[in-house]
Amino acid sequence: MALQMKPACERCEGGLAMKDEAWICSFECTFCAACTASMGHRCPNCGGELVRRPRRDAAPDAA
Ligand SMILES: [Zn+2]
Ligand SMILES: [Zn+2]
Repeated sequence: MALQMKPACERCEGGLAMKDEAWICSFECTFCAACTASMGHRCPNCGGELVRRPRRDAAPDAA
């Protein structure tokens, strides 16, 4: 199951590039680092814990 990489924070609508730090809950609600910190790492939609989204780099073959 692939994560859906949402391009923006759901709270402030700030853009989130693949290489940017982003936080998601288990339902894939997506937030930027600043909103996540201000919300206490808790998803306002479902109450779930927010965890760091793994980065998807543009050049996966770079050693
Ligand atoms: Zn935000
Ligand atoms: Zn959520």
